[in-house]
Amino acid sequence: MKKKKSIKDLLIEYFKAHPKEDTPHGPVVDWVETRYKRLYKKKPRDTWRSIRNLHEIGFLIKVRKGIYRYNPDAVKQRELEDFTSEQKEEILKRDDYKCVICGRGRKEGVELHVDHIKPKYLGGKATIENGQTLCAQHNFIKKSLKQTETGKKMFIRLYELAKKEKNEDLKKFCVDVLETYEKHHINGHIIWKR
Ligand SMILES: [Zn+2]
Repeated sequence: MKKKKSIKDLLIEYFKAHPKEDTPHGPVVDWVETRYKRLYKKKPRDTWRSIRNLHEIGFLIKVRKGIYRYNPDAVKQRELEDFTSEQKEEILKRDDYKCVICGRGRKEGVELHVDHIKPKYLGGKATIENGQTLCAQHNFIKKSLKQTETGKKMFIRLYELAKKEKNEDLKKFCVDVLETYEKHHINGHIIWKR
């Protein structure tokens, strides 16, 4: 069966036929709406929003208000920086299908994402080493939780030391802190053995 053409498909078709041109939205919208009406006998909705969306996903460059440009080279570069599905699977498998921050995963019914450790906009590449598994929640708040990893490891070391030295006060303090990590599902991939 032939795939039904969406407004987005038509827009992509137009921009691919006009690469590296500063394109005001008027003629694009006219062209797409004419094609759409011919195909489906009705006027499309949200053509303008679809253009904005193509900009948001990195397909179009916004030159200035109402003017967009399609640069095939930039899009190709952008695609290179995305993980392939094989890479995603490898990263998920390496991380044992668990969020590296809270340790929750498919078993808990949590949605998992493959994240660029160094973000794409900072030049992060699509390599296995630059990938990590995050749950939807921690993908969202990733930046603020990066530093807690260091903290948890430090408190685990301190806890071990306090046990060895039989320093009950220090031990209790570490237990309190580490239990707080557990309570909030923070850094569950770093295992604390009591
Ligand atoms: Zn998580």
